[in-house]
Order: sequence, then C-alpha cells, then structure tokens
Amino acid sequence: MKKILPIILILFLSACSAKNKNVATVSEVADTYTFSTFDTECFVSIYGAHEYGMGESICGDLVNYLRRYDKLLSKTDVESDLYAVNHRTSDSVMISPVTATLFELGKDFYKWTGGAFDISAGTLIELWDVKNRTTVPTLEEINEARKHCGNFNYTVERRVDPDSEKSARITFTGDKETLYDFGALAKGFAADGVKEMIKSHVMIKAAIVNLGGNVTCIGKLEERKGGAFNVGIFKPFSGNELATSVKVIDRNVITSGDYQRYFKVEGDDRIYHHIIDPRTGYPTDNNLDSVSIISENGLLGDFLSTSGMLLGVDKTKDLIDFCKEQFGDKHMQAIFIDKNGKISKYPRWNDATKPIE
Ligand code: AMP
Ligand code: MG
Repeated sequence: MKKILPIILILFLSACSAKNKNVATVSEVADTYTFSTFDTECFVSIYGAHEYGMGESICGDLVNYLRRYDKLLSKTDVESDLYAVNHRTSDSVMISPVTATLFELGKDFYKWTGGAFDISAGTLIELWDVKNRTTVPTLEEINEARKHCGNFNYTVERRVDPDSEKSARITFTGDKETLYDFGALAKGFAADGVKEMIKSHVMIKAAIVNLGGNVTCIGKLEERKGGAFNVGIFKPFSGNELATSVKVIDRNVITSGDYQRYFKVEGDDRIYHHIIDPRTGYPTDNNLDSVSIISENGLLGDFLSTSGMLLGVDKTKDLIDFCKEQFGDKHMQAIFIDKNGKISKYPRWNDATKPIE
C-alpha cells in the first residue's frame, strides 16, 4: 500500500494505469490511498476525517475490506472461494454468503442477456487470456472451450454452517470442467459493500472509491456548486483524454470497454479484447468501444456495463429498463461510445451540468 496524501483544493485524481479508466475531479481536503487489488490500480479518497487525523487508519480499514472481497472472488488466489470451486475435487464446496450471492445472480444474468453474460464462461475467458496472448486461438480450441460454458447446473444452500465464514454450500451436478469467472461483477459488488461501510462512518462526509475505473461517489462535496463529483469518462484508446464527464451525487459510474484490455496481432487491424461473447466464442463486437452505467447499485452497474458491450445499444436499453423495474434503481443511465467516437446517452438527458441525484 502506498503512502497517504492529503489533497487540498482542486486536484486531478488520475485513476491509474496507462490504458483504462475514469478520473474524478475533486475539491476540499481528502485523505487518499492508492493501492492494487482486483488485478488493477485503485484508490480511495475520503473527506472529513483528515482534521481528526483519522484518515490514514480509516483508509487502511477500507482497503482491507476491499481486499477481503478480492480474496474471496479472485480466480488466481489459492485461498479464494472461486479457486476452491474451479479446482474442486468433490461436487460440494463450502463458500461465503458473498460468493453464494454471485452464483445465484449469475443464473439470472445469463437468462436476462440471452446467454451473453456468462459467469460460467471461464474456460473461454482463460483461453483468450488477453493479458498474455499474442495470437488468436484456433476455432477448434474455441469450440472446445465453449462446450463448458452456459453451465448453471448447481444449487446453493444458505446457512448450512451458520458458525462458519463459509456458511453456504454450492453443489454441482453438471460438467466438471466448467470454470467460473467473476471478473465482470466483483468490483461493482465490492463497491456496494465498501459504500455501506463508508456511509455508516460518522467522520466521513464524502468519498470516492475508484477500483480500476469503476468509480463510486459517496455523499456530497460541500464546497462546490451542488456538491456533485465530476467523473470523467475516458475517450477510448486515447491515453488519458476524456470523452465526456458526468456530475453525480451518490452514484457509481462503471465503465466496460474494449480499450481496457486487449492484444493485437501483427498485420491485423482488429482489437482482441477481454469481453468474450460465449455465443460466438470471440471478443464481442457491437460497434462499441465503451459502455458506462451510472447507477445506485454497483453490482448492477458492473453487470450492465459488461452486458452493454455484449448486447449492443438497443438491447442494452431494454435491459436497463428491465433492471430499473426489477431493482428500483429509478435513475439508472448509460453512456455509449461507439467505434467512431459518437457518444449517446440513455435515457437522454439534456442538461449535462445537472447532477444526477
Ligand atoms: P468488466 O470490466 O466489468 O466489463 O469485466 C470484464 C471481465 O469479465 C473480463 O476480464 C472477464 O473476466 C469477464 N468476462 C469476459 N467475458 C464475459 C462474459 N461474456 N460474461 C461474463 N463475464 C465475462
Ligand atoms: Mg462488469
């Protein structure tokens, strides 16, 4: 964990690594920690605790809390629930209630997206391994990996062992080679958890949590007009240039984009990115470079931004309407950036300066 910095007046907080992400412009005095978790660069900034000299210890607690989510949901951490599931030697695995929730919702998300959003697409996602690959997998390899996708043959029982941290049990009945992947949900889900923790803290007036470009704004900044946070949406493939920004109060701004992780092959113009459509076996292509969702609920925002890339503009609008109804997140909004750089918003909002509250 890197050192803590007091931030005074308008500072441009740049989220992180070269390729992705959103940025937020903030004023007032904040304590900020930058750290790595969820395989990406993150920061938390809190307002209000600095004058009591408590910023450092509170930030430390928040970071530890976030890392606990990562430890449960990571694919690679040998102690995680997901690792235990993916490397299971028996049909039943004890998991934490947090992990159980994602397995339960994963079934719905698959159904609601017609099989595009698939937490059971781990074999395919691993095959594409865009972080390390430099060549396109063969059709044979893709078809082999696809055989293990769309497998929701499991049941989840809650409170099987109420005294244990791993109080839920998941039992698999289908294909043993299916791998599960929470990469499209874990950060949004963790943001919801840490938001509750921040809101219950008497000293914190406002906060930003940025998990590799998934930005969660909590509370109001008093000094600035309207108290809103201004969250930038990156122009895809531009480095740190912004395409637009959005003023929000108590909202998540969560972006999925092809520019965030990809590889290229010599002599080929295409981008092979990390959001893979299990219906085709290839990185999704709906003429979109990014989809940002502005939502109260971080998990939904994470689900919908990834789904937006997978489904394209029109179907995503329908899915947003459905989710608004289903979860009562009335003011959910989307910003689509297509491959020509055209920005479209849904539902359209005319006054770009009006904070979304
Ligand atoms: P996000 O950045 O939230 O859009 O999530 C991208 C990550 O989700 C990828 O790095 C994979 O771990 C995972 N993923 C890729 N394709 C899919 C898919 N079709 N359904 C669910 N998760 C996916
Ligand atoms: Mg997502």
